[in-house]
Amino acid sequence: MDTADAPIVDAAGAPEAPCVEIGESRESRVGAVPVRRALPRRERRTVGPWCFADHMGPVRVTEQHGLDIGPHPHTGLHTATWLIDGEVLHRDSLGSEQLIAPGQLNLMTAGRGVSHSEEATGSYRGTLHGVQLWVAQPDETRFGEPAFAHHPMLPRLEIDESTLTVLAGAFGGVTSPARQDSPMVGVDGVIRPGISVWPLRTDFEHGLVVLSGEVAVEGRPVRSDRFAYLGIGRSELVLDAVEPARVLLLGGVPFGQPILRWWNFVARSRQEITGAYEQWRARDGRFGEVPSDLDRIPAPPPPWSR
Ligand code: MN
Repeated sequence: MDTADAPIVDAAGAPEAPCVEIGESRESRVGAVPVRRALPRRERRTVGPWCFADHMGPVRVTEQHGLDIGPHPHTGLHTATWLIDGEVLHRDSLGSEQLIAPGQLNLMTAGRGVSHSEEATGSYRGTLHGVQLWVAQPDETRFGEPAFAHHPMLPRLEIDESTLTVLAGAFGGVTSPARQDSPMVGVDGVIRPGISVWPLRTDFEHGLVVLSGEVAVEGRPVRSDRFAYLGIGRSELVLDAVEPARVLLLGGVPFGQPILRWWNFVARSRQEITGAYEQWRARDGRFGEVPSDLDRIPAPPPPWSR
């Protein structure tokens, strides 16, 4: 995903005791599609290793025009694409060409460098609605090989009034097959009216993105496109829904290490970012080539080098 307008991230938010900090997602635009950005936010840069969450659409797409995000690079992070509705075609510099549909997960690992595009499918016309997520990689893997995995089947479970799909990590006794480089969890919840009680790991901090409808946490209403930071040390989350809702739970062990994020790069220093910027600009091979008809997205110069 292109994130030219995203703020520079220079620190992880310190985890807090169980709390309900509610904030509104920021309106933005990625390619041709309106998005609401839940993460990062000024007061909360990361939740576990999750460092970016865009709720995109719903928007109408055609066979020829969809996200229309041309080839662009990433470093030091995993991108996760999760669709509620519609289809997207992923292409990357590893040679992957993968159609994704709702209920499936595309997980790309950037490591030291990868590039990809997100395109119309040539066959799908209708509504596109989903979430784009980034997960920061720890030092042990962030200089490693890039990779791409498509997970057509993910574990699902029912808890109270919720139908849950586990995108990443383990939850409620089931485990996602998706790679994780540090302890984390990501869960999609389709919630029916009533009370649902979800089990949580107390060593994780958590956040809740409400994609549609409304749920109450400890009597606090969390509406569509609000993000609720829930803190660390909770053994369960009680969700009270007065109407059907769709939510995304993100969590993990607090990342611990401050990350520096600029444009599509996650790193630890300005020097690393400047290097990635220059190498993408020079087309020197670090990020490979994406076989795409869309234009390659130029990197804007980092603010400290202007
Ligand atoms: Mn991307």
